[in-house]
Amino acid sequence: MISVSRLITNRPEGADRIRYSGQKDIYPSVLVFNVTRNCNLRCLHCYSSSGTQQFYDLPLSVWIEAVKQASDMGVKHILLSGGEPLARRDLSLIAREAWERGIRVELSTNGTMLTRERLEELRKYVDYIGVSLDGPEKVHDAFRGVYGAFSKSIKGLRISKEMGVKTGLRFTITKENYNYVDFLFDLMKKEGIDRVCFYHLAYAGRADRKLDVDNKTRLEVIKKIIDYSKDGEWEVLTADNPVDGILIYSLTRSVRVLDLLRRNGGNKSGERIADVSPEGVVFPDQFTPIPLGEIKNLKRIWDEPGPMLKKLKERRSFVKCSSCRFFEVCNGGLRGRALAATGDLWERDPSCYLDLIDSINLTDSDLKS
Ligand code: SF4
Repeated sequence: MISVSRLITNRPEGADRIRYSGQKDIYPSVLVFNVTRNCNLRCLHCYSSSGTQQFYDLPLSVWIEAVKQASDMGVKHILLSGGEPLARRDLSLIAREAWERGIRVELSTNGTMLTRERLEELRKYVDYIGVSLDGPEKVHDAFRGVYGAFSKSIKGLRISKEMGVKTGLRFTITKENYNYVDFLFDLMKKEGIDRVCFYHLAYAGRADRKLDVDNKTRLEVIKKIIDYSKDGEWEVLTADNPVDGILIYSLTRSVRVLDLLRRNGGNKSGERIADVSPEGVVFPDQFTPIPLGEIKNLKRIWDEPGPMLKKLKERRSFVKCSSCRFFEVCNGGLRGRALAATGDLWERDPSCYLDLIDSINLTDSDLKS
């Protein structure tokens, strides 16, 4: 994840200790718990192919045990996601277990089930709620496959804000909505929302590559997002494409930015972050379908790393773009997207738009400084 506003304005942010610690912990600091595959919507770009067909959920006790293991591992941050995590009635108990152990809890939701009653249960234990939006009402509802989804999500985020929970937006950039960045910032102004994260499409589940923008469009969209970040009014992040950080460096030429990017180290799937699927399979992230182990042995996955985890830790020896001069600040981008696009886990990430960043004119000494 790249904090565009942090890099541009140098204003410290809450997640700095995770994003720029530069530490090489043996365990991930962030775990995504996909606690269910059930969802009341059927989004076109859902990476977990979730929907209304009554999927089996793992029992609460399994997730509570996973939180305990996460705590033993020193995990700092658990992201509750799905499916729609609020489809689980016992979600607040998972959040409470994490909160009681000093783990920061975030909720990633479509927002339609954010009622006062659910927030009453959750608000003490959840540090942040990210509500997904895809654009104006018609565009959003078409994406979500349900008429009325937009108005319910807006209602949910308003209640969440009213009840004092830090609430922001999540927006996945696709061919169908990339020109709604202005709309999103206007909406944030109107609703008094100060945080947004833009996601590059990862080709997993129903998120087909055909939905993605081309890299020329991607560059223009990210430049626009950077422009919006300049006045420091919002906390703006992008996720799943470390090249955005290189773009910021190329525009600022700031040694401070380069230093932060170095400490961030680019994509760290399987190292700084990992994902647990609704069925309890542990993956390097939400988008890379290479199993690392099972939820019941969460900690052991890093205590006794298997061949795939070892390869991810040593990915510079395998990723095909490893001779790139920005490898240390990118780490080769998202492996799951390379795998989905080419069938080869170690191929170049197709969303890398480094070739289009024409203002970079760095010498080796810049990179070594
Ligand atoms: S070529 Fe590879 S390492 Fe370099 S910026 Fe692109 S994805 Fe990152």
